[in-house]
Amino acid sequence: MDCIFCKIISRQIPAKIVQETSHSIAFLDAFPLAKGHTLIIPKNHHMKIQDMSNEENIDLFSLVHKVLSKVDKLTGSTLVAVHNGKDAGQEVPHVHVHLVPRTLGDSAGP
Ligand code: 5GP
Ligand code: ZN
Repeated sequence: MDCIFCKIISRQIPAKIVQETSHSIAFLDAFPLAKGHTLIIPKNHHMKIQDMSNEENIDLFSLVHKVLSKVDKLTGSTLVAVHNGKDAGQEVPHVHVHLVPRTLGDSAGP
């Protein structure tokens, strides 16, 4: 499986890991739209949210909830986004939730 995020999970390529659970992992985006831009992904390879089990979804969004409480302190406003499918802008075919700190007038929007 030639998936960059699977390689981050298996530590084949480095990433700044923020937090980890049994089913999910959070790490900093390598090309951040803003300082603190974080990605949260399931440890199993799934392309879309609906491909994940209920248990994996609960674990993923529970980690989103935890990490968001820290990331949101950076600016007080955070874009929470998932590109769920290629035509929706998904470039890496492994589910990932973006947390992007926003400030008024920035260019980090969708
Ligand atoms: P997408 O457009 O698929 O929703 O977002 C993919 C995200 O993955 C982008 O924000 C991009 O900067 C990030 N990304 C791509 N390659 C790497 C990588 O090797 N390491 C990390 N940490 N992030 C990456
Ligand atoms: Zn993967």
